Amino acid sequence: MLTKMKLKKGDTVIVNTGAEKGKKGTILDIDRKTGKVTVKDINVRTKHVKARKQGQESGIIKVEGPIYASKVSYFCEKCGKGVRLGVKVNEDGTKSRYCKSCNEMK
Ligand SMILES: [Zn+2]
Repeated sequence: MLTKMKLKKGDTVIVNTGAEKGKKGTILDIDRKTGKVTVKDINVRTKHVKARKQGQESGIIKVEGPIYASKVSYFCEKCGKGVRLGVKVNEDGTKSRYCKSCNEMK
């Protein structure tokens, strides 16, 4: 089942729950099938990598793990907090997102 998601890549979101509550980050990737988002510097796991090719460095790299989109909210700069987004359908059929708190178009 596809999850209805109003978030887009590049959006700034804030974590609502869990150990990283209150942290902000930018959406790097969205998986609409699982309803998960990958957010920069959130849910970071360290991974050990071995150099496979010459010139490639081995060591520890950091990888963001996907988290459920329901755990994050869109961060509205104007409101200074996590908000809910609404969607307006324009006259030409295109959709615009807006902040439900301050009504600013996003
Ligand atoms: Zn707002």
